[in-house]
Amino acid sequence: MKIAFIGLGAMGFPMARHLAKEHDVLVWNRTKEKAERHAKEHGTTVAVDLAECAAAAVIITILPTSKEVDEVVDQLMPHLRPGTLWIDATSGDPNVSRETACRLASKNVAFVDAPVTGAVVGAENATLTIMIGGTPEDFARAKEVVRLNGKTIIHVGPVGSGHAIKVLTNTIMGATLWITSECMLLAKQLGIDMKTALEVTNAGSGRSNASENLLPMRLRDHQWPLVFKLAHHDKDIRIAASLAHQQHASTPMLALTQHLFTGALQQLGDQADYVEIAKIVARMNGTDWE
Ligand code: NDP
Repeated sequence: MKIAFIGLGAMGFPMARHLAKEHDVLVWNRTKEKAERHAKEHGTTVAVDLAECAAAAVIITILPTSKEVDEVVDQLMPHLRPGTLWIDATSGDPNVSRETACRLASKNVAFVDAPVTGAVVGAENATLTIMIGGTPEDFARAKEVVRLNGKTIIHVGPVGSGHAIKVLTNTIMGATLWITSECMLLAKQLGIDMKTALEVTNAGSGRSNASENLLPMRLRDHQWPLVFKLAHHDKDIRIAASLAHQQHASTPMLALTQHLFTGALQQLGDQADYVEIAKIVARMNGTDWE
């Protein structure tokens, strides 16, 4: 099957590689050199221009936000063919994805929101969890494609519901990351060795993805790789906050988490990794993790 893959970032690059094992994959990336490297390394084909992507049976986007997806939709609209399936793997905004689905429906193009979780390592190993919003028929079509990227593929509900649950689950992760950083810092200030503090946490009821996977490398081993931009995480939590507002829901923890992350982003900048919020936790206490 011919698949057009748009967006070869930290996630898209390895995801497109797995699809190329069974499909004829056309790649497009804003910075063309990345597409050329992908073609050279993984046997995909570089699209001459964005319009060429409209010839594929399936179009996949994984871009920073729904705004960039919308811009790509605008550019492809005149070229789209009926029967195409558009899979948006971006962690996007459910309100925008519902509008996008309507716009594409006018061209008889089906749309599913199919954001992913599992980080870059999950994209590399094709072990992502993929949550899909769309009709049962479109879900079945999308699943047949994205099974090459993930182990767990879940139909969440109609269009938009994949994006909704994605931002909610990332908000849970953000709040957990923040409170675990605070408590680990306090443990350090109380003279408890960081290795021991993490070991006890991970053997007890406070354990989480943050304490088991995210923080040990940073707090214990002092390695701070960039794997998921804080800018993306903040965007997810801001979408969750806007959904809460829309629902007239009382979500004080969510609101606090959003303010903490947005404040951290303002201080750390666009290129910071999300786990660097732990540095802000330390800075708020006049110290660091060294
Ligand atoms: P990256 O920042 O690594 O990559 C972003 C991609 O979008 C690049 O290919 C970039 O092109 C392209 N892009 C940026 N702006 C535009 C634009 N205006 N027009 C066209 N293309 C554009 O992001 P990730 O791969 O980390 O994340 C992508 C999505 O996946 C986000 O929604 C994120 O929240 C989500 N996600 C990320 C995870 C992670 O661990 N990284 C995990 C789960 C979900 P260029 O190469 O030119 O910069």
